Amino acid sequence: MNILFFGPNGSGKGTQGAILKDMYNLPHIESGGIFRENIKGGTDLGKQAKEYIDKGDLVPDDITIPMILDRLQQDDCKKGWLLDGFPRNKVQAEKLDEALKNADMNLDIVVEILLDREIAKNRIMGRRLCVNDNNHPNNIYIDVIKPDGDKCRVCGGELSTRADDQDEDAISKRHGIYYDTDTGTMASAYYFKDLEKSSSDLKYITLDGGPSVKAVTEELLSKL
Ligand code: AMP
Repeated sequence: MNILFFGPNGSGKGTQGAILKDMYNLPHIESGGIFRENIKGGTDLGKQAKEYIDKGDLVPDDITIPMILDRLQQDDCKKGWLLDGFPRNKVQAEKLDEALKNADMNLDIVVEILLDREIAKNRIMGRRLCVNDNNHPNNIYIDVIKPDGDKCRVCGGELSTRADDQDEDAISKRHGIYYDTDTGTMASAYYFKDLEKSSSDLKYITLDGGPSVKAVTEELLSKL
């Protein structure tokens, strides 16, 4: 099973993606997560990516595209994968589609989470990351997933924020890229929506990201 996940930052894409990943036992490949690991590890890739990430810009395609296409070639992806955060623009979508065709790989499901830009922004600023698992849901602005004091509501772990989540200019830039229907991330989602028309294997699912995490999960499961 090969799955693509789209949604603006703050839409709960990581949380919902983790549910599908567990359900189908797939590697969850998060482009942003790969960059963050490299930044933490002080690698050359991390150093190159950091300057773009801190400003809310996309890391250039000549770095990002080979990084993800190589990742999809690794052994753990042979039984399928869930890709989150890539493609982020139309060129990345075209290159991914081309690589899948060349590798004779099918795309089975595309999930797009819909969320109003202002709501997404507030969610990002309230997001807190657990040291034990980034996908433990903690958000100071959402009642049902409010942290337990200053600790993770799931496991009691220490919480932190991402620097690019607290910078309004960077958030606005990231959302500008996401909601751009000409060349941005929405354009890349629509690229696959168009493919659905000519493919009997591909299922394109849209979800309303506004309700609670549980309600979005229920909608997701009902549409699979
Ligand atoms: P995310 O964790 O998905 O919010 O990604 C964090 C940052 O990593 C983004 O704001 C970009 O700077 C960079 N990034 C993640 N995925 C991509 C991508 N597909 N193309 C370019 N840059 C990316």
